[in-house]
Amino acid sequence: MSSCTKNNSYQCPFCLSKNTISIKFDSHIEEIPSGLSRSNKASFNGFKCITCKSITSSKLFDKDLYKEGFYSKTQNYDRVNPSYDYTGPLLKKIISASKNGKVLDFGAGQGATAIHIKNLGADVDVLEPDEGYRKHLALNFNNVMSDIEEIKEKYNCIFAIGVLEHLSDIPDVISSLYEKLRKDGVLIMQYPNPTGFSAKYNFKNWDMLYESGHNFIPSLIGLRHMLERQGISIDSSYTSSIISRGRVPFFAARVTRFEKVLKNIVDRNRVIKFLYNLAWKFQGILGLGETLVVVIKKN
Ligand SMILES: [Zn+2]
Repeated sequence: MSSCTKNNSYQCPFCLSKNTISIKFDSHIEEIPSGLSRSNKASFNGFKCITCKSITSSKLFDKDLYKEGFYSKTQNYDRVNPSYDYTGPLLKKIISASKNGKVLDFGAGQGATAIHIKNLGADVDVLEPDEGYRKHLALNFNNVMSDIEEIKEKYNCIFAIGVLEHLSDIPDVISSLYEKLRKDGVLIMQYPNPTGFSAKYNFKNWDMLYESGHNFIPSLIGLRHMLERQGISIDSSYTSSIISRGRVPFFAARVTRFEKVLKNIVDRNRVIKFLYNLAWKFQGILGLGETLVVVIKKN
């Protein structure tokens, strides 16, 4: 049973509006696309803010499950090849902010992006609550932290890819990370875009609603409101998509079979690959990219 009802009893934690709708959606998919941890039958229970479009789950994920290795044990969840995973200038931004500096990958997973940055000459620390991933990270990094309280140093660049939506205390975490930036340092975060193409045109089937561990997915406006109350402003932002996860540009559903066929064609034909990348770029420029990238600069 799916339902969507107007409800003025929930208040949006981002823009504080009471103009919200409660949502109860069930979703079924035959085959789970790579990069997702959900099961093929999943439900979402929570509410959406009509004013700022942010999404709040009614039940927070149990943080202890992260520590016990929830994600490292989920085989379908991988981020093995990060280097060119990310469309748009995300990786370039991280690389330029990291140059000759001290860097923290906050929520590093198995560390593919952090290793890439390290190989380019940056001094990189990693933080990851998942014990399974930490064992892997220890092979590549000297400073592997498990909790925000362990951060002792200050950084030129802190980046968090796919982390914000898993937090249960966004303002506290962002304030703490902001404190850990050196002067002119930047905090770069990428997370699912609740006003992106899929969320906008196929909300009920938006896969980011059904991922285990997703607590809050703020819109840019919503996040801006929340951070303003913390005295933190967003320096710049844009939308882009993680293309290696097999989505199809300007297509608001996940159809694994179609995605595989398209990937084969894209990998074999340079002209089609160019057009495919161009379509993603265009989707991002329109503000409909599947993820939001937010940059906060320390003054
Ligand atoms: Zn709101």
